[in-house]
Amino acid sequence: MWGTGLKVWNELKSNFSSASVYLKEFFLFGISIILLAYIIFGRSGYFTLFIILSVLIGVLSLFFLGKRRLRELNNIRQVIFNIRKNYLNKSEEIKLPANLHGVEEEIQKMFEKMKNDINYLTRLEKMRTEFLANVSHELRTPIFAIQGYVETLLDGAINDEKVNKYFLEKANQHTINLSNLLNDLIDISMIESGEMRMSFRYFNINEYLSSMVKEFEPMAKGKNLELIYHPVRENLQLLGDKNKLRQVFINILTNAIKYTEEGKIEIFVEEEQKSGKIIIKDTGIGIPETDIARIFERFYRVDKARSRAVGGTGLGLAIVKHIAEAHGSAIEVKSEVGKGSEFSFRLKK
Ligand code: ADP
Repeated sequence: MWGTGLKVWNELKSNFSSASVYLKEFFLFGISIILLAYIIFGRSGYFTLFIILSVLIGVLSLFFLGKRRLRELNNIRQVIFNIRKNYLNKSEEIKLPANLHGVEEEIQKMFEKMKNDINYLTRLEKMRTEFLANVSHELRTPIFAIQGYVETLLDGAINDEKVNKYFLEKANQHTINLSNLLNDLIDISMIESGEMRMSFRYFNINEYLSSMVKEFEPMAKGKNLELIYHPVRENLQLLGDKNKLRQVFINILTNAIKYTEEGKIEIFVEEEQKSGKIIIKDTGIGIPETDIARIFERFYRVDKARSRAVGGTGLGLAIVKHIAEAHGSAIEVKSEVGKGSEFSFRLKK
């Protein structure tokens, strides 16, 4: 009995306290009613009756308004509680009464955004951990190798004319690999932290590529490969950052030479309406179809041992992709195992 009474009292209290936000409106309404009653009934008995009735209706309305407001707030509170406790998987599980449809929609959108942000951060964190693990692994390989060669030399091999030069050359090759890796890591971190500033200028693509080819001729000759540039219309000017593009060509051309055992490497420029498409084609080992989509990932190599043996870092194409994207272009790859590969991208005219 007492329990029920207390419950009713508590409910009354909370409903009225919830309705207290409407108190100002309630008093304004009350004063208008009194004025209205006075104008209509004057100071007769009806006036008092009308006022009493109005007060009763007002209190009842306050009670129901408060009750309704409390219910709505509780619904919203419950939804927020469920989100906070991770009880919900999909935004559709967020449900509010029909009159709160707008609020429901906003909470659903906020929930979606929060989920996306969390997923993005989790992915980022995973990538960061993987990257760190890869970097440590990549650094360990050349450092251990150098250590091994130096220790062997110190243990006496230095006096063995047959092997000492070979060991030194090997150690030297690994120091070159190490320095390549560090340079690529610096580039990647500059690019990803947004510190890489681009400076776009128009330049003569024929002159630029001819000098690039000259630079790479000795490397190609060293592997008995032909390196051919097919010039485009003489005065074609393309827009780009020559310094950053140099890195793109160095990486693609070095790869073309590294992964080609015989044949040739050709460079074409196809003039299009608004751009110039630069194509670098080799007759090398090619890339399996399943790997093509992944070769732009950091540290991804089709054949790890082969890449390392030829001084690869696994970062070259990741850098290429970033720089091409900064020029507003994607990198296209066509390749056939055993026949060769073709890398291309566009520069604006
Ligand atoms: P790496 O330093 O290992 O060459 P890249 O990021 O430059 O790293 O290239 C990633 C991988 O893509 C290489 O390890 C290689 O397997 C493959 N690849 C890149 N260019 C070529 C090419 N021209 N021919 C065949 N495979 C290639």
